[in-house]
Amino acid sequence: VWKNCLQVIKDSIGEQSYKTWFVPIVPLLLKDNVLTIQVPSQFFYEWLEEHYVGLLKKVIYQELGNEGRLEYSIIVDRGNDFNKPQTVNIPTKKIPTAITNSYQPEQHFLKNPFDSKTIDRNFFNSQLNGSYNFENYIEGDCNRLARSAGYAVATKPGTTSFNPLMVYGGVGLGKTHLVHAIGNHIKSTWPEKFVLYVSSEKFVNQFIESLKTNTVQDFANFYLLVDILIIDDVQFLSGKEKTQEMFFHIFNHLHQSGKQIVMTSDCAPPKLKGLEERLLSRFKWGLTADLQSPDFETRMAIIQKKMQADGIDIPNNVIEYLAYSVDTNVRELEGVLISLIAQSSLNRKEIDLELAKNALKHIIEDVETEVNLDFIQKTVAEYFDVTLDSLKAKTRKKEIVTARQVAMYFAKEFTSHSLKSIGYHFGGRDHSTVIHSVQTVSDLIDTDKKFKASIQELQKKFKVKTG
Ligand code: ADP
Ligand code: MG
Repeated sequence: VWKNCLQVIKDSIGEQSYKTWFVPIVPLLLKDNVLTIQVPSQFFYEWLEEHYVGLLKKVIYQELGNEGRLEYSIIVDRGNDFNKPQTVNIPTKKIPTAITNSYQPEQHFLKNPFDSKTIDRNFFNSQLNGSYNFENYIEGDCNRLARSAGYAVATKPGTTSFNPLMVYGGVGLGKTHLVHAIGNHIKSTWPEKFVLYVSSEKFVNQFIESLKTNTVQDFANFYLLVDILIIDDVQFLSGKEKTQEMFFHIFNHLHQSGKQIVMTSDCAPPKLKGLEERLLSRFKWGLTADLQSPDFETRMAIIQKKMQADGIDIPNNVIEYLAYSVDTNVRELEGVLISLIAQSSLNRKEIDLELAKNALKHIIEDVETEVNLDFIQKTVAEYFDVTLDSLKAKTRKKEIVTARQVAMYFAKEFTSHSLKSIGYHFGGRDHSTVIHSVQTVSDLIDTDKKFKASIQELQKKFKVKTG
């Protein structure tokens, strides 16, 4: 009987809709003119009832006569405590009243998600920025874990243990770029998948709007449709309890149906103040990976790549200079590059070191007379044969303490960083520690000839640099 029904249905609706909504149905039982079919979820059932009830009635009457009825058996989403899927029976509803107030999140989402004709996957706008991909996402120590986890998710969405994938890190370090790359990769492999990128801010605004217009259910239904949900900057959900509750609901549904969830945040999840515990605990189900500030080599590579992409030739010493000078984040680095290119074309001059120094003068304070902190730390660490990380670590080993104090001393001497900022860059120490270090080094220079010699030798490296 169901086969016959399917035949009629197949002929009356689009192939995509048919595949999406009817192929997954399993006929269970036919008894006393009642056909029971099994559907994958509550949501699925509601969708069928809202969109295809007329059609279903027609085929059921056709097959079973006017006494014919349809019942649904819904596979209940398995929560953590369930070992087996359960089924419940829900009798068919009457034909629902037409939905007049359909959810329209944004013009470029589904035109009208409740119009089944638009469930053509081509109409679904993923909100992805196509220029962010893995090829132009430079790999470095600063992003290795996040990048490779992202790539794993992009090639096997929903089936790795990285679900959800949570990427966190400070501003301009490449969170948004990475998650777009994931989305674009999935989209290019499986064009039919519903991939959706949304900022948390937009999510919140849409939700509030749906509360105002009484369309919360539509809002939820829309998100439940998504195969890969990418939600950026979840710290923005802080303190927004109602929105979190909705997100929790969507998260659970998607996760349980094996859909991939990718999130970003500006700090580590335990530090996300104002986020509900139950949400935070779910974030831990998958993988959390951080993004660090790019190191010197990565900054070099990023500059090279960007210039290459723009077809601009730039001498190596300029790249080095820029990579040394801009050590905060990638966004700032890009800003500097743009301004450099602009100056070069305005002045009709080739990009050289002089132009670069000029271009940076307005952007970075005292860059001409300043050796940057990174360079000092690197040089001092190398000189004392300790690792760069140990300078920022807690360890109190004698040779490391000395190296650290010397590096702080030079930072004070050669950069315009405040004591507080120096402390911050040495593993979050406070300014009194910096004062103490500077004092200790000054004292040693006065009393220890050998020490003084090494300081002078080191100093040369910085003097040459500041030249
Ligand atoms: P966030 O979302 O963490 O604030 P973005 O993803 O917006 O940072 O990155 C800022 C800029 O830096 C973007 O233009 C991005 O393309 C670029 N960027 C960041 N990381 C990298 C990287 N590893 N390789 C190339 N470009 C990068
Ligand atoms: Mg971002």
